[in-house]
Amino acid sequence: MKIAILSFLVSVVALAGNPTGNYKVIVDSLTKLESSHTSVTKIFSIGTNDDGTDIFAVRVSLTPENPDPRKVAHIVVATHHGDERRAPTTAMKFLQSLVDSYESHLVFRNGLADTEWTIVPVLNIPGYNARLREEHGWDPNRDYPGPCNASPGGHLKSIRTLMEHLKTRVYTGSITLHGYASSMTYPWGVALDDPHTLDDNAYTAVTSKAAEKNGYRYGTMAKVVYPARGTYEDFVYWKYGMWSLLIELASGSTTDIQQTVEAMTVWFDGIDRTPSTQNALNSHCREAGRLDLRNE
Ligand SMILES: [Zn+2]
Repeated sequence: MKIAILSFLVSVVALAGNPTGNYKVIVDSLTKLESSHTSVTKIFSIGTNDDGTDIFAVRVSLTPENPDPRKVAHIVVATHHGDERRAPTTAMKFLQSLVDSYESHLVFRNGLADTEWTIVPVLNIPGYNARLREEHGWDPNRDYPGPCNASPGGHLKSIRTLMEHLKTRVYTGSITLHGYASSMTYPWGVALDDPHTLDDNAYTAVTSKAAEKNGYRYGTMAKVVYPARGTYEDFVYWKYGMWSLLIELASGSTTDIQQTVEAMTVWFDGIDRTPSTQNALNSHCREAGRLDLRNE
């Protein structure tokens, strides 16, 4: 009897971190995609969250089994906010379009053969399953260190896990997916005397070209969306010089997602093949104050 109870407890513990609910639907789709495209995709876990659940990602590459530091790498992260339901859908559509490119003659264009991709469709797993913006009551996209933020961040294990993953290799470009404000924005996102980075001309050139695909507004996050402190999008630019774009979907309709996937492709094609080297904070911090109230 004791052994039966013990083995029951062991199996409960083992199951505790397994994907459930809507997240399981996403993981099942990733598994299905990988099984039919084994030569260009590989599922891996970047690590676990506070619930012990694996945060799964897919690597797309001509050599997907292992990361290759000689290749240029880009990352797409969706669903910091669990109530932005069309964000993971967009990540999955972008993933599918990448797979299509890698399995066609397009792989010989735009340096794709020498590029590899990490797609994280759902970062905030409990929020996604519960249709909540927050993860265990905490906003994941206010949980990073960064300019004007003395906090080390990482209250949530999911955020610590992602920050650790970003140390494992050089990433050049990053896109995050949110909803719904019809915008594509770039650093800075914190409240500063002047929100423009030293890369503003480069950001404007590539993002305006991408916006021809979906008609979104573009500019700095602080101006076009609202100032916020502790965001991923500022963090990756400030810490690593990654070219960083925050996409707020319009409606998340099929057409909106299709056009935005095209915009993402144009944007990644247009950025430099190396991270920025002039990404240090170049202005004075202001209090974000009451401006950081909206829910996108
Ligand atoms: Zn969001």
